[in-house]
Amino acid sequence: MTLNEHGRPIEDVLADLESKRGNDVRWDEGRTFGLVFDGGPSVREVADQAASMFLHENALNTQAFPSLAQIQSEVVGWTSELLNGPETAAGFLTSGGTESILCAVKAARERGRIERGVTDPEIVIPTSGHAAFHKGAHLFGMTVRSVPVLDDWTADVAAMAEQVNENTVLVVGSAPQYPQGVLDPIAELAELAATVDANMHVDACMGGFVLPFVERAGVEIEPWDFRVEGVHSISADIHKLGYAPKGVSVILHRTKELRRYQTFVFDDWLGGMYATPNLQGTRSAVPMAAAWAVTQHLGVDGYVELTRPLLENAARMRAFVGAIDGIRVLGDPQFHLLAIASDRESSHPLDVFALGDAMRERDWFHDRQGPPDSLHLTVSNGNAGVIDEWGAALADAASQVRDTTATDRSTNYATLE
Ligand SMILES: *Cc1c(COP(=O)(O)O)cnc(C)c1O
Repeated sequence: MTLNEHGRPIEDVLADLESKRGNDVRWDEGRTFGLVFDGGPSVREVADQAASMFLHENALNTQAFPSLAQIQSEVVGWTSELLNGPETAAGFLTSGGTESILCAVKAARERGRIERGVTDPEIVIPTSGHAAFHKGAHLFGMTVRSVPVLDDWTADVAAMAEQVNENTVLVVGSAPQYPQGVLDPIAELAELAATVDANMHVDACMGGFVLPFVERAGVEIEPWDFRVEGVHSISADIHKLGYAPKGVSVILHRTKELRRYQTFVFDDWLGGMYATPNLQGTRSAVPMAAAWAVTQHLGVDGYVELTRPLLENAARMRAFVGAIDGIRVLGDPQFHLLAIASDRESSHPLDVFALGDAMRERDWFHDRQGPPDSLHLTVSNGNAGVIDEWGAALADAASQVRDTTATDRSTNYATLE
């Protein structure tokens, strides 16, 4: 491959780019359950316009761009309020859930080292905890103690307690966890972390912009956010159910002192004093500005209005699954996530990977995951108009694959190409 010697006209270039998208999933028709979360036409428009306004700015130096310092501080402040953060809470915007989690892992390691003298830091996490915590351990030289979940897919606090020791710097719970969409017992996990003065991180990458609005819609949820005293940090993705375009998440710490453990300051470089809040250097302003615009445009009312039907739709989807012989929903998820697995109690258990392939033939896209083999669905506003169509397609696909087994058993969540 060689870059063309001579430049090409704008229209040609853009037409080529457009043609590359021919085989991409049709998220704008609500046919994906994950990856893209669509807040509707006006949310898209405000994001588009804010993104183009800030396309060229750089958040590396917020002294040069005070607008970006303000944008960051406002979005972080609003998120903290939604998650019942105390006055002292402080955080930063990051590029996504993974970066927020890496920052939390690094902060926990540093606090353990500086305050407790821990030299071989360990993380205790349920097997449902996101892979990004393992990535953090890999990057930052830490050990992970991964503990199987209970039959209902929530964290097994008693089993985790057996793995907590004087090297534990971080205990993880999720609100809700990604694979089956259930809420971990955060208060109990926070008590466990407190027994050795480890950090307690709540991964609300999925739930951070859903659960607060579920509560406002009148549904009671057991406390999981900063109302739980022992919670040190929370990650919440605006680029998921916050409906902002990709590249933006919030990492919050209970205090500025706790936040200081995540930052990096270096003063022995010919380029001068260098400080970064998160893992990036040069930092796009686009996701920050778009997130600011989307959250302002929606406001609390707007999010509650998007969340109410979301819960109804997820419940209807669970009912569709329940009505088909051979498959079932794993656990009892109450929010916007569900996993479809083979029903071993049925006389005709279905292969859900064959089912997923048959859905793909019908232009519906579901991520594969496991163990156990299952299809993962994140329901968002973008799917609102197609739930019945999806249910009919699922029933149709199920009857097609009654006696089929998929040969490809891979559960690649992402690619390395
Ligand atoms: C999506 C997700 C993450 C990782 O976020 P990215 O934005 O994909 O980096 C972490 N935890 C949970 C629970 C998630 O759903």
